[in-house]
Amino acid sequence: MSTDSKISKLFSTIDDLKPSFIDRLSKAVSIKSVSGDETLRPEVFKMATFLKDELIKLDATDVQLKDLGIQPPPVSISNLPLPPIVLAKFGNDPQKKTLLIYGHADVQPAQIEDGWNSDPFTLVVDEENDKLIGRGSTDDKGPVMGWLNVIEAHKKLGIALPVNLICCFEGMEESGSLGLDQLIKDEAKGYFKNTNDVCISDNYWLGTKKPVLTYGLRGCNYYQIIVKGPGADLHSGIFGGCIAEPMTDLIQIMSTLVDNKGNILIPGIKEMVAPVTETEEKLYEEIEFDVDELNAASGSKTSLFSSKKDILMHRWRYPSLSLHGIEGAFSGSGAKTVIPSKVIGKFSIRTVPNIDSNKLTKLVIEFVNRKFKELNSLNECKCELIHDGDYWVSDPFNKSFRAASKATKKVWGVEPDFTREGGSIPITLTFENELKSNVLLLPMGKGDDGAHSINEKLNISNYIQGTKTLCAYLHYYGESE
Ligand SMILES: [Zn+2]
Repeated sequence: MSTDSKISKLFSTIDDLKPSFIDRLSKAVSIKSVSGDETLRPEVFKMATFLKDELIKLDATDVQLKDLGIQPPPVSISNLPLPPIVLAKFGNDPQKKTLLIYGHADVQPAQIEDGWNSDPFTLVVDEENDKLIGRGSTDDKGPVMGWLNVIEAHKKLGIALPVNLICCFEGMEESGSLGLDQLIKDEAKGYFKNTNDVCISDNYWLGTKKPVLTYGLRGCNYYQIIVKGPGADLHSGIFGGCIAEPMTDLIQIMSTLVDNKGNILIPGIKEMVAPVTETEEKLYEEIEFDVDELNAASGSKTSLFSSKKDILMHRWRYPSLSLHGIEGAFSGSGAKTVIPSKVIGKFSIRTVPNIDSNKLTKLVIEFVNRKFKELNSLNECKCELIHDGDYWVSDPFNKSFRAASKATKKVWGVEPDFTREGGSIPITLTFENELKSNVLLLPMGKGDDGAHSINEKLNISNYIQGTKTLCAYLHYYGESE
């Protein structure tokens, strides 16, 4: 049977199985697997068992619940066990490529009092508005069920999977993926051996009309500047004018980091940014996006740029510096006359190719120290890195992306937009580095799904067409040279 006739058989089976696929998602959503709520930890365990049972029903082999031990502090419940990572395999044919699929089955907290129109843990099937509403519908239970749906369609038709699949489903993604980095390192030459590529379905279309494939994420280096002087907080009526105030120093320094047009003022950073190539430039032209969408998303008319290309480039491929806050500063309402004795300014830099994280930190700290020295202050100042996560960029023309592009075209009738994201998914880089393989981000839901927000939804069409896209991707990827 040719690939295309297999795919059309699978597509019509996916259509036939739609009610049971929705039922599968409904069962998954009903489990309150909120990883950030320690009292709901048994539910996250229940979710892992649910996945295990589903995988076994689908004839997975070597299904394992990997124990990750006890959650490290800070925790309120002592000896709180981390939920296991669910591992499973389908096929072990040396003639076929091996694809690792990752997803997460934990969700963000949700309560009806937050403003939901219905119980967040009861999936509402709204055929009229083409919506499946419930916590986790799009992030990330829908996509995870999508993979199971694909496997079920193959099983029903007796069609062999075109690749060997390794499933890696975690239960702590919304709480920093605790334990996952280590597991990937430990299993790189064990359970995950022979992985050729990785596919993650855990992000969204840029907008609501056009499917996308995502090939890049910015990194993030987070810094703080600590300025301290007096031994305790003081009263401005007594000390104002006679002592060196830490906040005055801090605000002067912070104002030298970035201007109000978004330009980073620390020398040497711009120089590290990779030049724009012609191929990359072309990618922006096709993308469906405009300034109104940015303004709608920000709830204002404060976009610094008016052209699509400028906005997207500054969101995806240029670094940015944001000032986040000042710890220790008076921030309540009213007119407190305190002079804070110690203030900590927080800012971060979103990083992009080819910024070297260590070099960046050196530039930042030297710059802050120089600016402080220029102030000739009697206070003390220290700038330090709190945490960093590297950027990720893949080749959107590699065979995995080409297969996903072909699959998208087959299902949706259009070429996907190639997008990057301004935020980060740190695990992407761990997979790439530890497994020495490429990662593809293949999203299922739309840009307005409201992941992490109230009334989270996944369009029914995205769930079903998304399942077909994952299915066609496996076949085109499997046969690619
Ligand atoms: Zn997610």
